[in-house]
Amino acid sequence: MEEKKAAGGKNLKQDTLLAKETKKLKEALEVKYPNLWDKIDEEDKKAAYSFAESYKDFLSRAKTERVFVNVSVETLESLGYVPLSEKKTLKAGDKVYESVHGKALIAALIGSRPLKEGCNLVGAHVDAPRLDLKPHPIYEDSDLVLMKTHYYGGIKKYQWTAIPLAMHGIIYRKDGTPQTISIGESDDDPVLTITDLLPHLGKDQMSRKAPDLIKGEELNVLIGGLPYPDPDTSGRFKLGILQLLHERYGITEQDWVTAEVELVPAGPARDVGLDRSYIGAYAQDDRVCSYTALAALTSLETVEKTAIAMLFDKEEIGSDGNTGAQSRAYENFLYTILAKSQKQTDRLDFQQMVDNSNMLSADVTNGFDPTFPTVSDSRNNSYLGRGISLVKYVGSRGKSGTSDANVEFLSKVIRLFNEKEIPWQTGEMGKVDEGGGGTIAKFLAHLGMEVLDCGVPVLSMHSPFEVTSKIDVYMTFQAYRAFMDGMD
Ligand code: MN
Ligand code: MN
Repeated sequence: MEEKKAAGGKNLKQDTLLAKETKKLKEALEVKYPNLWDKIDEEDKKAAYSFAESYKDFLSRAKTERVFVNVSVETLESLGYVPLSEKKTLKAGDKVYESVHGKALIAALIGSRPLKEGCNLVGAHVDAPRLDLKPHPIYEDSDLVLMKTHYYGGIKKYQWTAIPLAMHGIIYRKDGTPQTISIGESDDDPVLTITDLLPHLGKDQMSRKAPDLIKGEELNVLIGGLPYPDPDTSGRFKLGILQLLHERYGITEQDWVTAEVELVPAGPARDVGLDRSYIGAYAQDDRVCSYTALAALTSLETVEKTAIAMLFDKEEIGSDGNTGAQSRAYENFLYTILAKSQKQTDRLDFQQMVDNSNMLSADVTNGFDPTFPTVSDSRNNSYLGRGISLVKYVGSRGKSGTSDANVEFLSKVIRLFNEKEIPWQTGEMGKVDEGGGGTIAKFLAHLGMEVLDCGVPVLSMHSPFEVTSKIDVYMTFQAYRAFMDGMD
């Protein structure tokens, strides 16, 4: 008995020692991306929840790219930022911004080091999938007044029916005066909606393939039903709405030709989950990165390298146009701040500045969704709750269309984050050959700067109600701040 016990004790001691060794070895050799709620203290949790309140408030107010820019400009000006055009020269500590046709925005905090030594940029996009209106949108059919739409960006069209929609945008009257429209956000506003077929009569519809479950030409928005009170005239229902629009906004049917009006999901951003750990809202792709980038920039007062937030338009449809990332407008901004910060500038100075610049292409990525596990490689996907995801490459089918960050740069970013104790994870967007995505990264990389994709993992991306984790949003803000402040 005695002996056995002693032997048992000895084994136990050996086992504990071995277990300790194994644990040490595992910690030294294996990579782990812990859930951040386990890692943070109560103070960080409070900070994350409080940051989410400001973020939700911003999202609820900024339902389109134009409004996002307007609200951001207000914020920037309240913090001492001035339009770049108002500054003849620039020096360290100056805060400037430029609105790109009211749909995109660039803001910079000038650093103490010469601009030739490069900038630290965080670039995100403020446009989001939505429904735009056709030039002749309004028509009447069967006593209903409806509007024809053309969807913008990659959507599952069926997700946009039978939900409350709001309408935001700008209309230019014949005389060139603008009229803004914003309907459907406050509690006593009416909303608009796209009708869907009842299941009782949906036999044929339900046998369509999902992309055609609702077709593009079936995304018709119900906007009215009161007839103009003259029984002898044709088109009375449409005339009733035209009259209402004229009385309320002074617009005629032709003015819709010169309109940029968007249909978006109505209502504010919400907490999701019984524990309120998630945020649910329309257009978190990519306003979550736009908001955190701007919050990071405006939290800084002095930097060594000039810090810049670039918030692009048109990412969802290929970054084209003069507000998209392919526009020279962004390059021009960089050239202008260089020219205004030194006596003489030539092309070589500019190229040096760009070559010495670092950029985070800040865009959301897909969070692993256990309901749809087969589309992802679970060992190489981002997870909600594990922080900002650093994505070396995006693209699809053999990395097509990605800038594929240089490991020298990726390693530098990771060392900075580790040093500043910014948690991060990594992943790629779905399985090889499953699909993929594009970002603005490659367009800025074409200029010559180092660019890395990174951002917040999202569930239900491109749907009317996208989901993020509060801790990821908060830590992404911290990551962008550390990058703008401390990247060499
Ligand atoms: Mn995006
Ligand atoms: Mn997107």
